[in-house]
Amino acid sequence: MYFYLPTRIYSERDCVRKHGAEWTALGKKALIVTGKSSASNGSLEDVTEALKEQGVSYYIFDETEPNPSVEMVMKVRETGLKEQVDFVIGIGGGSPMDAAKAVALMIAHKDKDADFLYQKGDDTALPVVEVPTTCGTGSEATPYAILTRHDVHTKASLPHKIYPVYALADGKYLVGTRRDILVNTAVDALGHFIESYINTNATEFSHMLCEYGMGIWSSAKNVLIGADVTAEECDTLLLASTLAGMAIAHTGTALPHGLSYYLTYEKGIPHGKAVGYFLPGYLASAGPLIRKKVLTLTGFPDIQYFTAFIHRLLGPMEADEELVTKAVRGLMSNADKLKNVPYPVTEAMLYQICGMAY
Ligand code: NAP
Ligand code: FE
Repeated sequence: MYFYLPTRIYSERDCVRKHGAEWTALGKKALIVTGKSSASNGSLEDVTEALKEQGVSYYIFDETEPNPSVEMVMKVRETGLKEQVDFVIGIGGGSPMDAAKAVALMIAHKDKDADFLYQKGDDTALPVVEVPTTCGTGSEATPYAILTRHDVHTKASLPHKIYPVYALADGKYLVGTRRDILVNTAVDALGHFIESYINTNATEFSHMLCEYGMGIWSSAKNVLIGADVTAEECDTLLLASTLAGMAIAHTGTALPHGLSYYLTYEKGIPHGKAVGYFLPGYLASAGPLIRKKVLTLTGFPDIQYFTAFIHRLLGPMEADEELVTKAVRGLMSNADKLKNVPYPVTEAMLYQICGMAY
């Protein structure tokens, strides 16, 4: 067995400020890649205050789009080069965190064009610091960056592995997040656990992360259908999300993620929601023993309860037959995803996972 995760992960209240002297030592000037919400949840202020305290200058790019595109990354790369930054800080959900990794890669390869993003090869990148503000992607602890590719009409993971140097996870930034964002991202984290657990690349190390993490997720799941969410509950959801990121850093994701990209590209369905639609089907497609194990770990008596819970959180799937066919055909030609599934995948199975007749 082998487990590699070089990211220094701080998961605690006020870690951005507490460890400011350490992570700001990555350079003299930082490029902050973020969206609009970081200005109101305290994360951007904590980061800029820590930088100021240590005399490190910075430039803020705060127009990260959801599901960032190759084009956006190339535009921000130009800004980073012009500003002569030494490291990149992603603040937000998976969109800014993934964009930060891709920008860090492209700044380090300033003579390369956008094609380089999807060419296997040198993974050298500027150092990256990630500050998550959603409880879903775990991108702070993964080497992955997923971008929208308009050239092939879907989203796709970069072949490059860009591990953040620091992950600074503080649940306080999630307090007051819109309910649908909290729910969708928590379902994404659940997807990471399930797709990592039922995975060809799974080992005892990754199973350990999933088994412990699914218990943590399960302890907070009723928060998703309840009333207001406390800071402590946000801590729990964020911890689950980081653990799930650590698990997929080792195994990668599987069928639900592979199918979801088409729904997000074509219909703008948020990532976690698009993944969640396929989780009951993926679980049903697995062997009875591992299915039972996942259900026990996530606190559901059987697959019907699990399905009903997901349905209650997400509502009915927003995809017609044409889109499902596109997703199924696309995934059938995605060898990288199919090889993560520990049993043979057929078109009929994928239609079943999508809840449609073959
Ligand atoms: P997101 O697209 O980053 O954010 C969704 C929305 O939530 C945005 O409108 C964002 O606003 C807002 N938001 C973020 N934090 C908030 C907070 N604390 N309070 C209020 N609003 C907040 O969504 P995500 O689900 O976290 O990330 C999805 C992306 O991650 C997808 O591109 C997906 O493919 C990728 N992903 C990556 C990995 C990986 O391992 N790298 C794994 C799974 C998914 P602003 O952006 O304007 O701030
Ligand atoms: Fe995901």
